[in-house]
Amino acid sequence: MTVPLPPGEFEIISRYFAGHSARGDVVLGVGDDAALLQVPADRRLVAAMDTIVEGVHFPAGTAARFIGHRALAVNLSDLAAMGAEPAWALLSLSLPESDPDWLQAFSSGFHDLARRYNVALVGGDTVKGPLVITVQVMGFIEADHALTRGGARPGDFIYVSGIPGEAAAGLAVIQRQLQGGKAGEILQHRFNSPEPRVALGRALRTLASAAMDVSDGLLGDLGKLCDASGCAAQLELDRLPASPSMPALFDAAAVERFALSGGDDYELLFTVPAERASEFEALCGNLEPACTRIGRMTQRDAGQPVVQCLRGGRPVTVETSGYDHFAGA
Ligand code: ADP
Ligand code: MG
Repeated sequence: MTVPLPPGEFEIISRYFAGHSARGDVVLGVGDDAALLQVPADRRLVAAMDTIVEGVHFPAGTAARFIGHRALAVNLSDLAAMGAEPAWALLSLSLPESDPDWLQAFSSGFHDLARRYNVALVGGDTVKGPLVITVQVMGFIEADHALTRGGARPGDFIYVSGIPGEAAAGLAVIQRQLQGGKAGEILQHRFNSPEPRVALGRALRTLASAAMDVSDGLLGDLGKLCDASGCAAQLELDRLPASPSMPALFDAAAVERFALSGGDDYELLFTVPAERASEFEALCGNLEPACTRIGRMTQRDAGQPVVQCLRGGRPVTVETSGYDHFAGA
């Protein structure tokens, strides 16, 4: 009996990653020294890159299909936050070993998501090393319509999509091996399979004044949007979207902590000028997921916190911190 050898580098590329450039604007995809891509004349190219590392961005032992999905999803989330339409991706894969089952599952997770958003994998790199996956995505935006973090003005309403905190709660369910029943499954799914909010980002590009995706915790990320816009914000804790799942497993204080400083949501945080809020909210009904108004942008004032949390209309102090890879290092 012959034991099949694990696939080598070229076999990995041709078996799992070549032939996935089904877009007319890919002049040359995987296989040559570089890809050749046709950018539409009337659009700007939007580019983003994100790396995920085993043990840092996902627990060791995470199913390969989820890792493949996550590697692309976190990048598409960045394009969504700019209002861009995704087009192409490059994939750099550092693998400790060549395992066909792992590669099959990883590539299925990646390609299934890519197909849903019409993204062509046009190149990459494959090396042996610790499990580290870097994806670069590129997409298009109509000139002058890009959503940035810097366009918010005092008085703008602040919205968030989905239910911030559920992904972090899902990670806690996984790490603490909680028996969470149906609620636990929903939360784990939020962590394992984040859905990039591409359609929402596209809809926002003519309505929102500023946008970003929430990856490091709502409070910290709102602070970044405030910094970029030169504003401050009031966040109304009573307005945070209620999770049907988190309270089944966690007490109210933990739920609020997940919502404010848990990471990995990949929801969109954005601002809409007050005079356009009714137009936006009318459109909201047709969008998946629901968006919730959670506060207002305010003038920046040296004596005041950049993000002020209100409960029952009164300022409160909440202890939170966003995720920072090098904090305390
Ligand atoms: P080079 O030696 O010129 O860097 P490689 O042998 O690394 O080329 O890659 C050969 C081709 O396969 C290139 O087109 C490259 O973009 C593509 N490629 C390599 N790894 C991947 C991957 N993980 N996913 C998609 N394409 C890949
Ligand atoms: Mg190479």
